[in-house]
Amino acid sequence: MIIDCHCHAGRGDVMTAPWNTDAPLETYFRRAGYAGIEHTVVFPAFHTDYSEANRELAGIVARWHPRLIGFAMVNAKSDAGRVHEMLHEAVIRLNLKGLKIHGFEAMPTREVCEAARAFNLPMIVDVAGKAHVIDMFAPQYPDVNFIIPHLGSFADDWRAHERVIEQLARYPNVYSDTSGVRRFDYLVQAVRRAGAGKLIFGSDGPWLHPGLELHKIKLLGLPPKEEALILGGNAYRLIFSREAGRSRSFVQKRKRKHEPG
Ligand SMILES: [Zn+2]
Repeated sequence: MIIDCHCHAGRGDVMTAPWNTDAPLETYFRRAGYAGIEHTVVFPAFHTDYSEANRELAGIVARWHPRLIGFAMVNAKSDAGRVHEMLHEAVIRLNLKGLKIHGFEAMPTREVCEAARAFNLPMIVDVAGKAHVIDMFAPQYPDVNFIIPHLGSFADDWRAHERVIEQLARYPNVYSDTSGVRRFDYLVQAVRRAGAGKLIFGSDGPWLHPGLELHKIKLLGLPPKEEALILGGNAYRLIFSREAGRSRSFVQKRKRKHEPG
């Protein structure tokens, strides 16, 4: 099963660039269908009100059921103080399955990480080239799984790619998506150093072509089992193996209980 783990959907309200104006899916669906992509993770375009954007997104996910998997967005800065409440609505009422944070707005705070942990949500964090912040939040929240888009930089910052590859190898809870990575050898290096279990196919649709992005994974020429992990296996496990996550935090809580006081 092929899952595209990075696509935008719905309207933004800022209207100064494509990514904060509108992310229409009609063309994306045609291209993704032709490429054999069965499911797609979608999250809102940039918005000044993510409660509203998350609701619109949930409507789009419902309309295209079962093709889409929705992730909520919050702005760690402007939504400070109500992140848990927003995720409660996103998970319980809107049936969204994960969280997306964009470092262009604000990096994940403790409030955001703790809410993600409470609802056991995988968190996509676009660090916008600032890969050093991963060294702060990833070890602080070892039971939260972080997916870093574009190997750390949509803008081809090779220093960020180098650092994220090293972080993939070092932190069990850090993953990266492949969307928009232009220098192909960084994808090759990521698999070599961190293994196929740490890379996740994403297209950054509807603005990038999902078939073109998917072809990059095929060009890695991996054994079928490893290729399948990148194309959908890893994403499926992170999004849907919540029971595994729950029992893990349960074990940790029990351990803590028995620690000397
Ligand atoms: Zn994107």
